[in-house]
Amino acid sequence: MDRDNYVINCKTFEKLIHDFLADRLDNDTEEAFIAHLEGCENCREELSIQYLVYAGLPKLETGETFNLNNELISKIESERNHVIRRKKLTNLAYSMEMITICAVIASFVLLAIFA
Ligand SMILES: [Zn+2]
Repeated sequence: MDRDNYVINCKTFEKLIHDFLADRLDNDTEEAFIAHLEGCENCREELSIQYLVYAGLPKLETGETFNLNNELISKIESERNHVIRRKKLTNLAYSMEMITICAVIASFVLLAIFA
């Protein structure tokens, strides 16, 4: 599977909602999840409903006041930032690896020429 173009459909989205709310998605899946969320009104609605059940019901029991819509929006926002940050870290790690490999190759070449 081409992970860069990892796209999920509505059916998969629905299955992933619970894992998303529980912070159990891996980075690629989460990225695809959020991308789908942004383009699909039905799934946004579905997520709101699930979030209401997931986060709202425990709070009803404790009598806590809450604004679920804002909470959901800020959760999506923070998850999106996580995805971007983790992606940057992965890219950085990859660049460092590449630099190291190049340095090793360069030193072999230099050794071959001057030794
Ligand atoms: Zn959808």
